[in-house]
Amino acid sequence: MIVLGIETSCDETGIALYHTEQGLLGHALHSQIAMHSEYGGVVPELASRDHIRRTLPLIKQVLKHSNVRLPDIDAIAYTQGPGLAGALLTGASIGTALAFALGIPVLNIHHLEGHLLSPLLSKPAPRFPFVALLVSGGHTQLMQVDGIGQYRLLGETVDDAAGEAFDKTAKLLGLGYPGGQSLANLATRGQAGRFKLPRPMLHSGDLNFSFSGLKTAVALLISKHEAAPQTHADIARAFEDAVTDVLVEKSLSALEMTGLQQLVVAGGVGANAQLRQKLSHRLTALGATVFFPELEFCTDNGAMIALAGALRLQHINGAPRIADSFTVKARWHLESA
Ligand code: ATP
Ligand code: MG
Ligand code: FE
Repeated sequence: MIVLGIETSCDETGIALYHTEQGLLGHALHSQIAMHSEYGGVVPELASRDHIRRTLPLIKQVLKHSNVRLPDIDAIAYTQGPGLAGALLTGASIGTALAFALGIPVLNIHHLEGHLLSPLLSKPAPRFPFVALLVSGGHTQLMQVDGIGQYRLLGETVDDAAGEAFDKTAKLLGLGYPGGQSLANLATRGQAGRFKLPRPMLHSGDLNFSFSGLKTAVALLISKHEAAPQTHADIARAFEDAVTDVLVEKSLSALEMTGLQQLVVAGGVGANAQLRQKLSHRLTALGATVFFPELEFCTDNGAMIALAGALRLQHINGAPRIADSFTVKARWHLESA
């Protein structure tokens, strides 16, 4: 079966075709980062308008490159939420209309389900059950994943998400938006240990996180020191060390508490090289295994939505839904998806 995936929850239009036996047939992405960067963040109305411009041409492009015709598609999966309502409506309306016209089922996918299943696009793939560390721009959560649609929240951030903290700290250091990758690049030139930042909630006894205090600590460091390039690199290093330390320790605690041996990392911060190195090192020492998505599937993409749709399609009891209407959910808890 072939599933067309449509992702339009924020500032990336992602389209993909996933074949239940052959895997990913093709995918394409249009990022709006350049358009939003002059405003220092995502402008919702501009995002919706751009998704309207990009979605159909990208679908045509992916079909052509994958040598698939519209009638060959068996189902359409779109991101129903959470995200920007106007942006979500674009993918939801195009996906539902196309599925209705083709007479095929439509699957409304939770964006975070897409993220946390994204390591299943790679080989070797993790097997259920596993713990997922979801570290994106809007979320930081530890989940226990027992199967498709079986998600239990173990802990989450009480304030900023890890990616958000990277972005806000990058802004304080004068880097562009989104700043996670630039901050990580700067940190590679930083001296470890020159500045020491707190490890928030490391000993809180639960699996929750807090990152908003770190950016305040960084702001204080910046105001106290001269704006020399090396100082900024050292601060970036101190910030990255602190965030990754907490993410690693809490992930290890989650494995210990659940008794599971596999950790899956998903979301944009999962592209962070220091996080990847530390987790690989620590989990190998424990005899556990960590799985990362390919770098291009860490941030938003259509492949993870097509995959989630294909897996949902295979796990549906009874006939899949042929829809003649749709809704989007700007806020939506994964446990209820
Ligand atoms: P959500 O899925 O929660 O709605 P999102 O889709 O915007 O949020 P992603 O696309 O998964 O989030 O990830 C984007 C985030 O990842 C940004 O905050 C970005 O700064 C961060 N990021 C990307 N690469 C890196 C990196 N190498 N190191 C740290 N952070 C990174
Ligand atoms: Mg994005
Ligand atoms: Fe995302």
